[in-house]
Parts: sequence; C-alpha cells; structure tokens
Amino acid sequence: MRRPLIAGNWKLNLGPGAAAALAVYLRDALTDEDAVDVVVFPTALAIGAVAAELDGSGVGVGVQEIAAIASGAMTGANSAVMAREAGCTWLLTGHSERRQHFAETDAGVGAKAKAGLAAGLYPIVCVGETLAERKAGRVDEVTQRQLAAALAPLTPDEVALVTIAYEPVWAIGTGETASPEQAQEVHAALRAWLRAHHPRVAETLRILYGGSVKADNARSLLGSPDIDGALVGGASLRVGDFTDIIAAAR
Ligand code: PEP
Repeated sequence: MRRPLIAGNWKLNLGPGAAAALAVYLRDALTDEDAVDVVVFPTALAIGAVAAELDGSGVGVGVQEIAAIASGAMTGANSAVMAREAGCTWLLTGHSERRQHFAETDAGVGAKAKAGLAAGLYPIVCVGETLAERKAGRVDEVTQRQLAAALAPLTPDEVALVTIAYEPVWAIGTGETASPEQAQEVHAALRAWLRAHHPRVAETLRILYGGSVKADNARSLLGSPDIDGALVGGASLRVGDFTDIIAAAR
C-alpha cells in the first residue's frame, strides 16, 4: 500500500512574508494529518521562513531547484546541502518549466537527484510529454526516456527513495487536465517500466500526477490505482483548495 503524497509547487510566487503566512494557514488547517504526506515547495528565498513555521507540523518543505554541486563558482545557484541546512527534506527536479526555460537536460535531472539524495533530500523527479509529442504517439517513449536518465546515476538504494511525478506539459497551468484514464494509462506504463528495470521498488515507488489538479478533479484522478498523489501548482496557493485535494487523497 503506497501512502499518498500531495506536493504543492509554489513556483515563483510569494516572498518570505507571504509564504510564511500561507504556511501558517496550512499548518493550522492540517491539525491531524496522518494518512497523507504533504510537502510544499516555496521559492528558495522563502524556505527559511516557511521551514520555521512548519517545523514539527509534519508538513515537509522542499527546494524547487538546485545545482548538482554542493558549493563553488556558480553565481545565482543553490545547493542541496544548503537547502537541507535551511530546513528542506525534499527536492523537485526535472520540472517542465526548468526543462523549457532553463535548458534542463535529462542527464542534469539525474545529477541533481543524485546530489539531492547525497544531501539527505527526497527527490521528486518530473517527467512528461508536450502536446506535439502526445499527438505523435510518443508519450511512453518520452516519459520513459526521461525517467531512465533521471534514475541512471542512482544506486538501487537511492532509487528506492525517489518519487516520480507524471506531468503532461500541456496540462500544466493551462486548466486542461489529463482525464483519469489518460493519466492512469501513463502511470501504469511507468510502473511497468519500473517492474522491468527496478523490480525491487516497482510496487513501492510513488507516482504523482500533476497538471491543473484542483479540488473538483482530485478525487477522480486520485482514485486511479497507479496514481499515488498529486503535484499541485496553482491550487496549492489557496489553502482551502489545497486542503480539499489533501482530503481527496485520504
Ligand atoms: C506544477 O507546477 O507542477 C503544476 C502541475 O501546476 P498546475 O497545477 O498549476 O498545473
């Protein structure tokens, strides 16, 4: 039985003050959360403020992006080691916005997952196809190539600590959601790929769905057998919507 995970990606929204305030609302709204893992990803500048408010609450904090090295000449970057020190226990890597706007590569995602694990962060590895790739019938080829590259540098014990997020690019921030059937089909194919390549963890690794998840579509998506939680963007910025999605995962 896989424990559901609901992750909120706050993207480039909310400075330290507003992010801390949202964290307080969330903490107070989730007084008795024991059936679902919850984690939020504030901007790097807000991690300290959010981690201070969520300390001891059971809600995890993650970093949206890291460099693959711990420190050095890389102006503007943050590292996994520093994120861990600031209070993070999770790492997002391979998000399509990073692939699209910051030229993230498949190999880079694997290197960052490796660096995150070395620092004590649980990586959420994002994979997903564009609309053109879907129309060309390349969904499995693309998502499995991205997943294979992300897991390639990891030891079997490290792979066991990874969470996968299937996020069709055409559904992110567009209001367009994959149907539960479309999502389940890709999740099942990813799990079949895991059975073939990482059989030891194929039944235990969580595969989240992301792409315009809202309170009103969460229940049907999360009811699918291979959908183990959600990576939520826009709706995670509204406490009521986010807690409704968490409730749907219970
Ligand atoms: C995301 O940022 O990962 C995401 C899925 O965004 P949204 O829920 O807004 O589509």
